[in-house]
Amino acid sequence: MYPDKQSKSAALYQRALSVMPGGNSRHTVYFPPYPIYVERGQGCRIWDVDGVERIDCINNYSALIHGHCHPQIVEALREQAGKILSVALPTEAEIRLAELVTERVPGVEQIRFANSGTEGVMFAVMAARAATGRNKIAKVEGAYHGSYDTVEVSLYPTPDAWGPDDAPQGVAPSGVHEGARANTIVLPANNVEAGRRILRQHGDDLAGVTIDPLTKNLGFLRVTPEFLSMVREETRALGAMLIFDEVYSFRMGFNGAQGELGVIPDLTALGKVIGGGMPIGAVGGSRALMEDLFDPRGGAKLSHGGTFNANPMTMVAGAAAMELYDRPAHDRLARLGERLRAGLRELLKITGRPGTVTGAASMVGFFHTESPITDYRSMLHTMMTDPSVGRLANEFFRHMLNHGVYMANHGFMVLSTPMTEADIDFILDKAELSLRSMSAEAA
Ligand code: PMP
Repeated sequence: MYPDKQSKSAALYQRALSVMPGGNSRHTVYFPPYPIYVERGQGCRIWDVDGVERIDCINNYSALIHGHCHPQIVEALREQAGKILSVALPTEAEIRLAELVTERVPGVEQIRFANSGTEGVMFAVMAARAATGRNKIAKVEGAYHGSYDTVEVSLYPTPDAWGPDDAPQGVAPSGVHEGARANTIVLPANNVEAGRRILRQHGDDLAGVTIDPLTKNLGFLRVTPEFLSMVREETRALGAMLIFDEVYSFRMGFNGAQGELGVIPDLTALGKVIGGGMPIGAVGGSRALMEDLFDPRGGAKLSHGGTFNANPMTMVAGAAAMELYDRPAHDRLARLGERLRAGLRELLKITGRPGTVTGAASMVGFFHTESPITDYRSMLHTMMTDPSVGRLANEFFRHMLNHGVYMANHGFMVLSTPMTEADIDFILDKAELSLRSMSAEAA
């Protein structure tokens, strides 16, 4: 049972605390009183250092589309490891992965690789500035686009500082440069009229607009077709770049979120899935734009270095993963996602518990409230005015953890191709057990 002071995980956490602040290098993998330490994974399952088996419903926040240690990905890595790990020269492996991604994502005719989604977004933002000669980047309030200055503006603003609903003020978290705050424009999610007005107001200085089509940290909020069309139209009219952050939402469709939604951005940031479980990020766009920005033969507008960019280990893992993630695999996984969403909705009905199920394809959000989350402010308002929402989420997470299901403590599940209908039904069984046994006090 978790937590257990006698467990190996608890002991490892104590050891970690003396050498890493909070024992940790990644805030999202910490949960109190201590995170579970993992020993190994196979398919859709992981085993912790105390020998407990769980089904992994996070899949490294979407990156592991084929779960753990898929034999073809492991074999590709093993073969590559015997040849060369990294080198200051190109390899054929990067051409293969570039071909696989460009074939598939409509707005990506050419691509350049980096090592994290954060870098993918960062290069997309720099590309937008270099292409337009302008400074300002617009983002949706509360949207996560990685860990660096520009896109951390208004990630978690508070009501005292966030300004009017239809004219949000940029709020810089500590550590973020004041210049980044001043040059980041904040849009209210899905508010077409306000969004249009704000973009036009900054039109002369606007380099680009970043959009995550299925905004994960707003509860997998879907950007509406009306808002997307408005942003596409306005960026075109203002001569600014539309940037899709598909680091996460690439899972929405076989051809990525843009293929699914039929809106083609100027620049696309990618990461996670396309690296097959290895560190990756990428930026892509039309051939003309990418050559203008990055082609060293013609005096590239941007300098683009990175010791591990396109490293062959990541490239072969990514290529194997993308080959395996063909249309039937995508469609099958999306059906499993639908089975889980439908099952969770049914469970809410039969247990009479409050809740909302969101998501698309293989991404599932499960929140213990019926208050609609329409943007960052409504989400924060719900959390602040109804503390039971957070408490129930925690309680549910703990129950699931103790019944063999590892999901995100804030209510997200992301599926992998090794999962079967039986695995989804297992998750649903445990969800039912958890919902039924949650204390009356917490409700
Ligand atoms: N953008 C989005 C939408 C993300 O979800 C993430 C990571 N969760 C990133 C960017 C950053 O990717 P990475 O963690 O690989 O830097």
